Amino acid sequence: MNDYDFQVLQLGDPNLRIISLPVTDISSERTHSFITALFRFVTDVHGMGIAAPQVGTAERLFIMSSKPNARYPYAPEMEPTVVINPEILWQSSDIEKDWEGCLSIPGIRALVPRHNIIKVAYTSLSGHQITTEYSGFISRLFQHEFDHLDGVVFLDRVESADDIMMENQWVKMISQL
Ligand code: ZN
Repeated sequence: MNDYDFQVLQLGDPNLRIISLPVTDISSERTHSFITALFRFVTDVHGMGIAAPQVGTAERLFIMSSKPNARYPYAPEMEPTVVINPEILWQSSDIEKDWEGCLSIPGIRALVPRHNIIKVAYTSLSGHQITTEYSGFISRLFQHEFDHLDGVVFLDRVESADDIMMENQWVKMISQL
Protein backbone atom coordinates (compact mmCIF):
# COMPACT_ATOMS: atom_id res chain seq x y z
CA MET A 1 0.00 0.00 0.00
CA ASN A 2 1.20 3.47 -0.80
CA ASP A 3 0.65 6.29 1.61
CA TYR A 4 0.38 8.87 -1.13
CA ASP A 5 -2.16 9.64 -3.74
CA PHE A 6 -0.24 11.66 -6.29
CA GLN A 7 -1.13 12.19 -9.89
CA VAL A 8 1.73 13.61 -11.90
CA LEU A 9 0.36 16.53 -13.87
CA GLN A 10 0.87 16.10 -17.59
CA LEU A 11 1.98 18.73 -20.09
CA GLY A 12 -1.05 20.83 -20.95
CA ASP A 13 -2.20 21.11 -17.35
CA PRO A 14 -2.06 24.85 -16.58
CA ASN A 15 -0.79 24.11 -13.05
CA LEU A 16 2.55 23.07 -14.58
CA ARG A 17 2.91 26.62 -15.87
CA ILE A 18 2.53 28.66 -12.71
CA ILE A 19 5.28 30.25 -10.63
CA SER A 20 5.40 28.47 -7.29
CA LEU A 21 5.67 30.26 -3.95
CA PRO A 22 8.41 29.82 -1.33
CA VAL A 23 7.89 27.21 1.37
CA THR A 24 7.27 29.14 4.59
CA ASP A 25 6.66 26.27 7.03
CA ILE A 26 9.71 24.06 6.50
CA SER A 27 9.58 22.51 9.97
CA SER A 28 5.84 21.82 9.92
CA GLU A 29 4.29 18.38 10.09
CA ARG A 30 2.49 19.12 6.82
CA THR A 31 5.68 19.88 4.90
CA HIS A 32 7.48 16.85 6.31
CA SER A 33 4.72 14.38 5.50
CA PHE A 34 4.37 15.87 2.01
CA ILE A 35 8.10 15.49 1.39
CA THR A 36 8.16 11.94 2.79
CA ALA A 37 5.31 10.94 0.49
CA LEU A 38 6.88 12.67 -2.51
CA PHE A 39 10.12 10.91 -1.75
CA ARG A 40 8.45 7.46 -1.72
CA PHE A 41 6.62 8.32 -4.89
CA VAL A 42 9.69 9.34 -6.90
CA THR A 43 11.50 6.22 -5.69
CA ASP A 44 8.57 3.97 -6.66
CA VAL A 45 8.35 5.39 -10.17
CA HIS A 46 12.19 5.37 -10.58
CA GLY A 47 12.24 9.09 -11.24
CA MET A 48 15.49 11.03 -11.16
CA GLY A 49 13.65 13.87 -9.53
CA ILE A 50 10.30 15.48 -9.01
CA ALA A 51 9.20 18.99 -8.23
CA ALA A 52 6.23 19.79 -5.98
CA PRO A 53 4.30 21.60 -8.74
CA GLN A 54 4.31 18.37 -10.78
CA VAL A 55 1.90 16.89 -8.23
CA GLY A 56 -0.15 20.06 -7.98
CA THR A 57 1.53 21.70 -4.99
CA ALA A 58 2.75 25.12 -6.07
CA GLU A 59 5.65 25.34 -3.64
CA ARG A 60 9.35 25.84 -4.27
CA LEU A 61 10.72 22.43 -3.41
CA PHE A 62 11.95 19.40 -5.29
CA ILE A 63 13.71 16.09 -4.79
CA MET A 64 16.78 14.92 -6.70
CA SER A 65 17.38 11.18 -6.53
CA SER A 66 19.79 10.23 -9.25
CA LYS A 67 20.83 6.62 -9.62
CA PRO A 68 21.39 4.45 -12.66
CA ASN A 69 18.39 2.51 -13.96
CA ALA A 70 17.08 1.19 -17.28
CA ARG A 71 15.71 4.58 -18.33
CA TYR A 72 18.83 6.50 -17.23
CA PRO A 73 21.72 4.01 -17.44
CA TYR A 74 24.41 6.70 -17.13
CA ALA A 75 22.92 8.54 -14.14
CA PRO A 76 25.34 8.94 -11.25
CA GLU A 77 24.49 7.58 -7.83
CA MET A 78 23.66 10.34 -5.38
CA GLU A 79 22.23 10.57 -1.91
CA PRO A 80 18.55 11.58 -2.45
CA THR A 81 18.36 15.29 -1.74
CA VAL A 82 15.43 17.47 -0.72
CA VAL A 83 15.86 20.98 -2.06
CA ILE A 84 13.70 23.73 -0.54
CA ASN A 85 13.51 27.35 -1.71
CA PRO A 86 16.49 27.00 -4.05
CA GLU A 87 18.42 29.81 -5.71
CA ILE A 88 20.94 29.57 -8.51
CA LEU A 89 23.71 31.92 -7.42
CA TRP A 90 26.04 31.51 -10.36
CA GLN A 91 26.17 29.52 -13.58
CA SER A 92 29.11 28.76 -15.85
CA SER A 93 29.08 30.21 -19.32
CA ASP A 94 29.83 26.83 -20.89
CA ILE A 95 26.67 25.13 -22.00
CA GLU A 96 26.23 21.48 -22.87
CA LYS A 97 23.38 19.68 -24.56
CA ASP A 98 22.28 16.32 -23.23
CA TRP A 99 19.18 14.17 -23.13
CA GLU A 100 16.36 14.82 -20.67
CA GLY A 101 12.99 13.34 -19.96
CA CYS A 102 10.23 14.27 -17.53
CA LEU A 103 7.47 12.47 -15.64
CA SER A 104 5.10 15.20 -16.85
CA ILE A 105 6.01 14.55 -20.50
CA PRO A 106 6.20 10.75 -20.71
CA GLY A 107 7.57 8.99 -23.76
CA ILE A 108 9.64 11.93 -25.00
CA ARG A 109 13.33 12.71 -24.75
CA ALA A 110 15.07 15.82 -25.95
CA LEU A 111 18.51 17.39 -26.09
CA VAL A 112 18.45 20.34 -23.73
CA PRO A 113 21.17 22.97 -23.37
CA ARG A 114 22.15 23.59 -19.73
CA HIS A 115 24.95 25.35 -17.86
CA ASN A 116 27.62 22.82 -17.04
CA ILE A 117 28.41 24.12 -13.54
CA ILE A 118 26.09 25.94 -11.15
CA LYS A 119 26.51 27.32 -7.67
CA VAL A 120 23.31 27.05 -5.66
CA ALA A 121 21.82 27.74 -2.26
CA TYR A 122 18.82 26.01 -0.75
CA THR A 123 17.33 24.95 2.57
CA SER A 124 17.58 21.30 3.55
CA LEU A 125 14.82 19.25 5.15
CA SER A 126 16.40 19.84 8.54
CA GLY A 127 16.24 23.59 7.96
CA HIS A 128 19.92 24.14 7.25
CA GLN A 129 21.05 26.62 4.64
CA ILE A 130 23.22 24.77 2.11
CA THR A 131 25.50 26.37 -0.45
CA THR A 132 27.07 24.00 -2.94
CA GLU A 133 28.20 23.49 -6.50
CA TYR A 134 27.00 20.93 -9.03
CA SER A 135 28.36 19.94 -12.40
CA GLY A 136 27.38 17.65 -15.25
CA PHE A 137 24.37 15.39 -14.78
CA ILE A 138 23.42 16.67 -11.30
CA SER A 139 23.73 20.28 -12.43
CA ARG A 140 21.38 19.43 -15.31
CA LEU A 141 18.96 17.67 -12.97
CA PHE A 142 18.93 20.64 -10.58
CA GLN A 143 18.25 23.08 -13.44
CA HIS A 144 15.47 20.84 -14.79
CA GLU A 145 13.70 20.64 -11.41
CA PHE A 146 14.32 24.33 -10.68
CA ASP A 147 12.60 25.22 -13.96
CA HIS A 148 9.43 23.44 -12.79
CA LEU A 149 9.22 25.93 -9.90
CA ASP A 150 8.94 28.69 -12.49
CA GLY A 151 6.48 26.88 -14.74
CA VAL A 152 9.13 25.95 -17.30
CA VAL A 153 9.47 22.48 -18.84
CA PHE A 154 12.47 21.05 -20.69
CA LEU A 155 10.78 21.26 -24.09
CA ASP A 156 10.73 25.06 -23.68
CA ARG A 157 14.53 25.03 -23.84
CA VAL A 158 14.94 22.73 -26.84
CA GLU A 159 16.62 24.54 -29.73
CA SER A 160 15.27 22.49 -32.61
CA ALA A 161 12.53 19.95 -33.18
CA ASP A 162 15.35 17.73 -34.50
CA ASP A 163 16.51 17.47 -30.89
CA ILE A 164 13.27 15.75 -29.80
CA MET A 165 12.89 11.97 -29.86
CA MET A 166 10.31 9.41 -28.79
CA GLU A 167 11.62 7.42 -25.86
CA ASN A 168 11.56 4.06 -27.64
CA GLN A 169 13.70 5.52 -30.45
CA TRP A 170 16.03 7.02 -27.90
CA VAL A 171 16.42 3.65 -26.14
CA LYS A 172 17.25 2.09 -29.52
CA MET A 173 19.80 4.82 -30.22
CA ILE A 174 21.63 4.63 -26.90
CA SER A 175 21.73 0.85 -27.01
CA GLN A 176 23.67 1.16 -30.27
CA LEU A 177 26.27 3.57 -28.85
ZN1 ZN B 1 10.43 17.36 -15.14
